[in-house]
Amino acid sequence: MELIIDRLTKKYQNTIAVDRISMRLHEGVYGLLGANGAGKTTLIRMLCGVIKPTGGSVMLDKMDAASEEYRARLGYLPQDFGYYPDFTGIDFLLYMAALKGLPQKPARRKAKELLKLVSLEDMARKKIKTYSGGMKQRLGIAQALLNEPKLLILDEPTAGLDPKERVRFRNLLGELGKDTIVLLSTHIVSDVEHIADTILMMKKGQLIYEGKWDSSHGDLEEFYLEQFEEVEDHE
Ligand code: ADP
Repeated sequence: MELIIDRLTKKYQNTIAVDRISMRLHEGVYGLLGANGAGKTTLIRMLCGVIKPTGGSVMLDKMDAASEEYRARLGYLPQDFGYYPDFTGIDFLLYMAALKGLPQKPARRKAKELLKLVSLEDMARKKIKTYSGGMKQRLGIAQALLNEPKLLILDEPTAGLDPKERVRFRNLLGELGKDTIVLLSTHIVSDVEHIADTILMMKKGQLIYEGKWDSSHGDLEEFYLEQFEEVEDHE
């Protein structure tokens, strides 16, 4: 599949949050980097069809981001995802599946399959309030996968993960990226450096870097910080 973003723009009263971004994404893991205020959330919200662009378009193959068929192929883990602390993992997934309109029997099968995929089988019947940060995040990914999406968008998913959880997370995304377009946003370079196949970097609403990063380009963290020094100075 191909996600085609064409001159995508979002203007607020005095701000251009996203400024004519064009790119084409395919199966694989993309890391969207940018300082606070760069426009990541606004871009992601347009890719999820939550807010309407001021200009330009988002198409997944021939499906527009505003269409029902696009939404059916989208999996989304928002930044401030609300977990239900007193639900068990399996009940939470079944509840989310019901909200997404999945029939009961296939939903149960799918929920079990996903708990296995995200290595939470043993925690399935434990309450979410007993989960670690990494476990909650994996459960969040599992709910985003209930509808077998072709486009998976994760907003700041690496916050608060310990090194072990990070490795697990990287492996999981690597697997998913084989047949899914996975886009994750973050403002922490080391989070995407080893997870993403392709780095996308935003600054002041524009895409300033798109491509693989290897050491011949120098140090990613350094490059990133140079881009944002100016921005940080104003904060
Ligand atoms: P990021 O996610 O990279 O931190 P955002 O997309 O949240 O960036 O914000 C990009 C710019 O758009 C910022 O200058 C922000 O203040 C502005 N912005 C975001 N949402 C709104 C809104 N609803 N109304 C007005 N300005 C907004």
